[in-house]
Amino acid sequence: MEYGTLYIVATPIGNLEDITYRAINTLKEVDIIAAEDTRHTLKLLNHYEITKHLISYHRHNEETKTQELIEKLKQGKNIALVSDAGTPGICDPGEEIIFKCIEDGIKVIPIPGACAFVNALICSGLNTETFLFLGFLPLNKKNRKQKLEEIKNSSQTTILYEAPHKLQTTLKDLQEIIGDRKVVIARELTKIHEEFIRDTIKEIIEKTADIKGEIIILIEKAQTLEIQQKFEEFSLEEHYNYYEKQGIDKKEIIKKIAKDRNVSKNEIYIYFANKT
Ligand code: SAM
Repeated sequence: MEYGTLYIVATPIGNLEDITYRAINTLKEVDIIAAEDTRHTLKLLNHYEITKHLISYHRHNEETKTQELIEKLKQGKNIALVSDAGTPGICDPGEEIIFKCIEDGIKVIPIPGACAFVNALICSGLNTETFLFLGFLPLNKKNRKQKLEEIKNSSQTTILYEAPHKLQTTLKDLQEIIGDRKVVIARELTKIHEEFIRDTIKEIIEKTADIKGEIIILIEKAQTLEIQQKFEEFSLEEHYNYYEKQGIDKKEIIKKIAKDRNVSKNEIYIYFANKT
């Protein structure tokens, strides 16, 4: 008997309209839908009037359910895997069954759609050329410190997922290790209260003290040697304009210039005070 196919179907991250025709048709046509939370997925299925046999597939039953689903796929059943929001396998269950399908020669097909971090990145205003997606930071102290050091030295925009009640702790940890770099908080994407907060870590800590909803942290890349060399060629005015264009306030700009040029803040203050 021919094996069935496993479809990895992306679902909306808030706005129910963010789903493709192909995703809806796939959900309609498969034999079974494996869902992270069946009650949650039922709301989406009801919205699109899809009635289908649902099987729960979440972190705590991933191992046993993988085996059960593999058997069904081997019996020729087509299965769609969905998570609560966005793309399965991205900080959501999926990896385990995908590994096993590949190992057993079962076809895996992606059905593209929403993924929270991609949308946060494209509208962040930070560099999108290369980026480092780290998901949730580890809680273990040693591993967490290691990741924070990685962010400190990364020449790519870093993206982190975080729970709102842990945001302040994470921002303070970031501030301690990487200093006061530019950060963007993408909140409640595709929902009514969607917003982007763009500022330095220090300011963001103050602005997000009572933040609620789903959030993503994006961190500006570390200054590369190339930029460092550019600073050396800049006049003080050019250096000032470079930061002003990024929306940084005067006090912070002077601090940054002093740091970049390895001179005292006072020296920079005096220079600009004499200019006005
Ligand atoms: N699989 C999902 C994806 O494709 O992005 C991610 C699931 S992960 C368990 C949940 C995290 O994604 C949240 O804690 C938050 O950091 C981020 N997230 C999901 N939906 C979001 C939204 N609408 N706005 C902002 N962040 C979101």
